[in-house]
Amino acid sequence: MDRVLSGLKPEKVFTYFEDISRIPHGSYNTKGISDYCAAFARERGLWFQQDELNNVIIKKPASRGYEAAPGVILQGHLDMVAEKEAGSDHDFTKDPLRLKVEDGYVTAEGTTLGGDDGIAVAMMLAILDEPDAQHPELTCIFTTEEEVGMEGAAGIDLSAVDARLMINLDSEAEGVFTVGCAGGMRTDLCLPVNRYKVRGAVLHFVVEGLIGGHSGTEINKGRANACRLLTFLLYGLEEKYSFAVISLNGGSKDNAIPVRAEARIAVEPGEVSEILEMAENYRNEWKSLYGAADPNASLQVTVEGVQTVEALIAPDQEKVSFLLLEAPCGVQAMSTDIPGLVETSLNLGVLRLTEDALHVRYSLRSSKSVARRQLRRRLEFLVSYLGGTYEHTGVYPAWEYKRDSVLRDLCTRIYREKTGQEPVVEVIHAGLECGLLSEKLPGLDCVSIGPELIDIHTPRERMGIASVGRLYDFVLEVLREIKA
Ligand SMILES: [Zn+2]
Repeated sequence: MDRVLSGLKPEKVFTYFEDISRIPHGSYNTKGISDYCAAFARERGLWFQQDELNNVIIKKPASRGYEAAPGVILQGHLDMVAEKEAGSDHDFTKDPLRLKVEDGYVTAEGTTLGGDDGIAVAMMLAILDEPDAQHPELTCIFTTEEEVGMEGAAGIDLSAVDARLMINLDSEAEGVFTVGCAGGMRTDLCLPVNRYKVRGAVLHFVVEGLIGGHSGTEINKGRANACRLLTFLLYGLEEKYSFAVISLNGGSKDNAIPVRAEARIAVEPGEVSEILEMAENYRNEWKSLYGAADPNASLQVTVEGVQTVEALIAPDQEKVSFLLLEAPCGVQAMSTDIPGLVETSLNLGVLRLTEDALHVRYSLRSSKSVARRQLRRRLEFLVSYLGGTYEHTGVYPAWEYKRDSVLRDLCTRIYREKTGQEPVVEVIHAGLECGLLSEKLPGLDCVSIGPELIDIHTPRERMGIASVGRLYDFVLEVLREIKA
């Protein structure tokens, strides 16, 4: 088969990257790539462990002269986000990615590239396969289902791992060392509702055109949340008109700021034109509220005529409004340790009104576990008081910033020597597996790095070829410098 990436340097890294791009490895489809890694270790006589979650650990003995040096862990995840362009016929369960080289970047035609985090997998395999690399005992940890709640890292058994220095390869900006991250969880609220038959003019509201973004790293950009806009819109109407809610729908993922939300309501036929006028005012209000941060927020209203519909009974509709308006959303606190860092936030990511219940899904994050617990309690109390229930899933701990870190100091010194520049050292308001792994490896000293990756999790994802080379050299150099 023709190789698209042949000739790119570092050769081994791009060879492995191309190999794994032929094995479909979207989240929950990681058996194939896991078996590939296990076979890689078996063929080379390396110690390995593969579990039922498809996590793989491979160890390579210290090279000569490094026998007494402290062991080092390299880590990344096997799964990728499987997203494709509208209209693409790509089948993520069986088709290989169609790689392309363009203007110094590797991309995949019509789909995500999986540079996040295939580049970590490729680099670890390349280093394990590098006969001349100088390093202490290496432990490579390949986790699974990171993109869907870090399930592999949550379930992996690390009792065979003694090393306490770890380089995580799941970041996406060159020259940036991540040294701490928020913990998080998903929270689902459920509020039962009752309906009755009502006759009225049906209006269909659609809020769209928003920018959205990542619920962690972009929560502080002042962007609008489509579900919240819709809620405030309805609440505004409630002040003047009586209406009955038929449907509510918005967002698709807990960890993405919703870009679209819609509602259908039944109103008095005589009030339709006034309500349409009010809607026009909302558009202008949104402009003044979100102008620069979310300039294209739009509201469409369609009049669907007089119908008999099943809508919420008044007391339940009031509870729905109360819950959606009073539940906190967005940035809750800024860090007092690190200027500019969001400490605690939550995102209303998914809103669904079914026949008999309202379902709201949030993503909660905080670098302080106490703050996250307090926030969680607020949601629990609110929904319980209204007669609903809650459930928390996908809980992962924060990766707390260490004041003293040998690895961070070493990485900083080498980066300075190689580039003549200072690296950016940061703590992020998003999740990395380092939190879960630190919990299992007490005293772990860890730094997260990565090559230039642009537009990850989208079909526009691309990876800078030269930056992969620089990162690989950097990792080899760090390994070489860790001596007894
Ligand atoms: Zn990743």
